[in-house]
Amino acid sequence: MSFVTHLECSETGEHYPRGTVQNLSRTGKPLLVRYDLAAIRKAVTRDDLLRRAPEFWRYTEFLPMQDPANAVRLGEVMTPLLPSRYLERSLGIGSVLIKDEGRLPTGSFKARGLAVAVTMARELGLTRLAMPTNGNAGAALAAYCAAAGIESYVFCPDDTPDVNVREISFQGAKTFLANGLINDCGRVVGEGKEAMAWFDASTLKEPYRIEGKKTMGLELAEQLGWRLPSAIFYPTGGGTGLIGMWKAFAELGEVGWLDDARPKMIVVQSEGCAPIVKAWQDGADHAPVWQNAFTIAAGIRVPVAIGDFLILRAVRESNGWATAVSDEHLLQTRDAVAKEDGILLCPEGAATVAALEIAAKEGRVGRTDEVVLFNCATGLKYPLPAGHQHLDLNQPVDYQALG
Ligand SMILES: *Cc1c(COP(=O)(O)O)cnc(C)c1O
Repeated sequence: MSFVTHLECSETGEHYPRGTVQNLSRTGKPLLVRYDLAAIRKAVTRDDLLRRAPEFWRYTEFLPMQDPANAVRLGEVMTPLLPSRYLERSLGIGSVLIKDEGRLPTGSFKARGLAVAVTMARELGLTRLAMPTNGNAGAALAAYCAAAGIESYVFCPDDTPDVNVREISFQGAKTFLANGLINDCGRVVGEGKEAMAWFDASTLKEPYRIEGKKTMGLELAEQLGWRLPSAIFYPTGGGTGLIGMWKAFAELGEVGWLDDARPKMIVVQSEGCAPIVKAWQDGADHAPVWQNAFTIAAGIRVPVAIGDFLILRAVRESNGWATAVSDEHLLQTRDAVAKEDGILLCPEGAATVAALEIAAKEGRVGRTDEVVLFNCATGLKYPLPAGHQHLDLNQPVDYQALG
């Protein structure tokens, strides 16, 4: 049994029945899963969680599957909150915690969304899924579909990092590189529905990935002892994680597990692709397609987001803001955090550090703040500059010269 009551259009509030296959609402907007929160409140307490396995499936009452036994699993650990003493010291901030999502299966937090989406796809009897990806989502789709016995088709921009593309095809997805960006690949998926009878599993175009991403918010609240930090810096592409966390906090508030204090939600994008930042600055509800998008932080190279209004709503409701950072700046922060803290960030995670530096300089965060940054993937999946020297073993080693 699940506590899901219905699906709801995020724009009009129109209801759709649970337990049915759905993509977008009739008005072309994302559907959100709604739960009987009063019943959840009676069914489970925060202490009950302590007896459950340390994985995000422990929040089963807040998840959409009919039967928890249906979960498609690859070892979904709870991800650690790593303090960055370096950033606390150098920026004068009370507490800086990095939530390291790179520990999840397939090395990124896309595993959260796809584990739940693929679980639901299998419960609903779907047999073929397709999606556009900049890399990590496709890898997670491929892996979870392989585990679930579902066919997968993945379409990547042709400059997607090679390691991601190989990972996707190696885990069994039919994998295509296309000469366009992620939104162009998304069009291929959308237009191919009839010919290929696949289900479109694009970000926010089906209701369940957001429920998986929501677990970041549930987990964060539990790890901090059922309170929230003062600010969350989130590298934002499609925005599923940010929207999901905001939804999680609302649900936890309604079941009485959190008080009214909410973190400022801070959108971090790249200067080469910053549609949400521009819309936020313009006071707009929607973000037009960003032209000629470019950034080395592939996960946030998303020129247009179907959930743009939901991202902007969360930023505004939370008194947050949106910042764009340069690739140069994020490469520099990735370097510094690796050398000073021993934490290897992905470029998208490093972007949140750059945004934090800007915020500290502007006086928006300081000594009384506790901030959480999201490192959404393992740094090991991305190219790193060489920093070594050569040693000729045919010569005696000059140890003094090693430095
Ligand atoms: C997908 C992705 C993002 C963006 O996440 P959204 O929730 O879709 O905005 C950020 N970083 C990495 C590494 C990603 O793979």
